[in-house]
Amino acid sequence: MKMSSGLRGIRTVREFEFKDKVVFLRLDLNAPMKNGKITDETRLRASLPTIQYIQEKGGKIVMASHLGRPKSANDKEFSLEPIAQRLSEMLEAEVILAEDPQAEAIKGLTLTLKKNQMILLENLRYEPGETKNSIELAQVLASFTQIYINDAFGASHRAHASIQAFPELMKEKGIGFLIEKEIQMLDQLLENPKRPYIAILGGAKISDKIPVIEKLIDIVDGFVIGGAMAYTFLKAQETPVGKSLVEEDRVKYCREMIERIQARNKTLLLPVDHVISTGIRDGASAKTTLNTIITEGWMGVDIGPVTLKNFSTLLKEAGTIFWNGPMGVFETPEFSKGTFGVAKAVAECKGLKIVGGGDSAAAAEASGYASQMSHISTGGGASLEYLQGVKLPGLEVLRRAKTSEKMENKT
Ligand code: AMP
Repeated sequence: MKMSSGLRGIRTVREFEFKDKVVFLRLDLNAPMKNGKITDETRLRASLPTIQYIQEKGGKIVMASHLGRPKSANDKEFSLEPIAQRLSEMLEAEVILAEDPQAEAIKGLTLTLKKNQMILLENLRYEPGETKNSIELAQVLASFTQIYINDAFGASHRAHASIQAFPELMKEKGIGFLIEKEIQMLDQLLENPKRPYIAILGGAKISDKIPVIEKLIDIVDGFVIGGAMAYTFLKAQETPVGKSLVEEDRVKYCREMIERIQARNKTLLLPVDHVISTGIRDGASAKTTLNTIITEGWMGVDIGPVTLKNFSTLLKEAGTIFWNGPMGVFETPEFSKGTFGVAKAVAECKGLKIVGGGDSAAAAEASGYASQMSHISTGGGASLEYLQGVKLPGLEVLRRAKTSEKMENKT
């Protein structure tokens, strides 16, 4: 695969000599948990190749991640203890959970680290400096690190200490396999995508997706819009939508967007029928409309069967698909057919199929078609920001290093 322009000037793990070096590996182990148990291991599994590679090359690994949003180190429900346990099973290695990231303690540990042992720091967000991008915390971490590797794609859009301030201090730094793949995949959506290129957008809020729509309008050949987002578009066309979720302050935007899409001769598919209910969680009262209109007292909770057919016909022929946001309240089985049906159509498409993270990843997973996607991003927010053209702090800090090194070499 050719070098992705998003990776220009960034070193990957393949370019380092890890033997006997202390390697700080920033991972995204922020897995969903319930009652102290991991409910989805995707992010752990996605982290394994880089960990195993550095281990094979003889590096002394200090892993680190955030988990959730703890208020203080007393919030024990956010401890990485269960993650350390599960990782040690997956890696068949001893993962030592280091409660105190203060430099001397870790330094001592790295000195005694045996071949099949590695360190995992406790939740980075137990340190108040992490989310403040603190230089002091960065200095502590840098004091025991020889090589810094970022493989936490899902956190790379945040200017936090372990993502930005810390690598800023490091000369030896780069990315792992997960970020490399994420950027290579996302760049294919931006650079010469195979046509027709269709973006499927859904989910709860249009306001979250406006920047990505703005970016994609000049790149894609068409939009397929479902989920609650669709009702703001339908309202903009003066279609009655009952009590469906509508963002009133975005109706005008949607009206203009429809005109802009039409002016560019691009496709826009909106729902022409719906699964409706009297409430979001009220599966029992679901019924299907016969046309686009939703009557008073009812709300749209999923796309209807005719819409699914329309969407599927377009999607199956696509050269490239980017999918972000479910087509309905897929968490309720009665309202999941549209989302899972779209997942099937995407799976059957022979082109490149990339699913944004977060709820879309969960929907693809729940549909049973996840394995047939070309790529499912591990970072919802990060992948959307990257596609919008936002420079991710976690990548930029690694790129700059290489440029300044080149300059140093010239002088
Ligand atoms: P987002 O994070 O914006 O992708 O939104 C995902 C959420 O949108 C999911 O939890 C869905 O249940 C919700 N959602 C999708 N369609 C609808 C709808 N028609 N009405 C209300 N919520 C919806």
